[in-house]
Amino acid sequence: ARPKVVVIGGGFGGATAARELKRAGLDVTLVEANATYVACPFSNEVIAGLRPLEGQFFGYDAIRREGIELVQATATRIDAEARRVTLADGAQLSYDRLVLAPGIELRFDALPGYGEDAAEQMPHAWKAGSQTLLLRRQLEAMEDGGTVVISVPPNPYRCPPGPYERASLIAHFLKTRKPRSKLLVLDAKDTFSKQRLFEQGWKELYSNRLEWVGLAGGGQVTAVEPATRTLVTDFARHGAAVANVIPPQRAGRIAEIAGVADRSGWCPIDPVTFESRLRAGIHVIGDSAIAGGMPKSAFSANAQAKVCAAAVVDLLADKEPATPKLINTCYSLVAPGYGISVAGVYRPRNGLLADVEGAGGTSPLEAPRQTRELEAAYAEAWFRTITADVFG
Ligand code: FAD
Repeated sequence: ARPKVVVIGGGFGGATAARELKRAGLDVTLVEANATYVACPFSNEVIAGLRPLEGQFFGYDAIRREGIELVQATATRIDAEARRVTLADGAQLSYDRLVLAPGIELRFDALPGYGEDAAEQMPHAWKAGSQTLLLRRQLEAMEDGGTVVISVPPNPYRCPPGPYERASLIAHFLKTRKPRSKLLVLDAKDTFSKQRLFEQGWKELYSNRLEWVGLAGGGQVTAVEPATRTLVTDFARHGAAVANVIPPQRAGRIAEIAGVADRSGWCPIDPVTFESRLRAGIHVIGDSAIAGGMPKSAFSANAQAKVCAAAVVDLLADKEPATPKLINTCYSLVAPGYGISVAGVYRPRNGLLADVEGAGGTSPLEAPRQTRELEAAYAEAWFRTITADVFG
């Protein structure tokens, strides 16, 4: 019989892996909980009222047409010994190899006061969909003059530059729609992705409107009080008109159930094959994986999926997988028509994916506005290209 691969999670990582494996001639089943995928990249634009949520929706028709068996269900159990997946309705799927790409789980146990109910008062909007719209509605309903507060978690988390792009676009919203309002960013760390570029843009576009407070300045939020939308740090209590609390995260729950997550909550992998270091026959890609220097991004998940699929094909044919080289680029918008980026190249070194020194880099600090305009256009082209590659 032809070898059978099951993929769990139909996001940027899993959907890509399923297609690559199918194109290589394997029997592929993709298990995805939702009928429609809601993409996070560009969801910060939705929050700022610059784009409809519908622009984030992607279906699975093209994937089905390729002959991939799509099962809309939640995987609830994995038996790594028997190589079997159990679904919520009790149905079971056998596999020769399993690819896990379940994204993230928000840690509702990590920040005192913040749980699933609190997220209705203080949205995280870190999984796109109803939370995205909730934050947008709260911003629209806020009185001019109110303070918006964003709480940013420590590393690692999904999309390292995401909170700062969000801060930028909310500041743009305030500047154009609620000019007497201010934005406070409370951060659990002292440095962040593309920091100098963001800070330069903030100074240029949002001075006196956006304040960022890092760990050393007392920025780490240690508790929240949802009823009054209060964020507590070791130094102060901040009342917010709108509070966006991005909690700490870990690998998607099924990773923990499968026994492939370690005590950090994330999944250690072999950087050549993305096979779990904890359970044979299970590969982990995307946000759930510990990918060394690679950030948790859609770009990374897509790149990792291609490398992992090629390795799975080789392993099933008893061939040795080639040593990969992976690329990531993350664009962020500081304002509409104002884009910045960071790029990196990664190779396996000492068991991890390490930065290739001298490769990659960020947008230039000194650049004419035209460069920022071009990068904003590249960002949109990137989103169209990757979503067509994954879902189109
Ligand atoms: P996901 O895309 O989250 O997919 C996981 C899928 O698995 C989901 O569809 C889920 O329903 C499914 N699933 C989970 N568990 C199960 C189960 N047990 N059974 C069945 N199905 C299951 N990245 C970029 O590259 N560029 C950007 O500009 C960018 N901007 C971002 C902005 C924001 C605000 C945010 C929050 C993120 C952004 N990202 C960006 C990051 C990007 O969204 C993630 O890194 C990417 O989605 C990770 O892909 P993944 O496949 O690992 O997980």
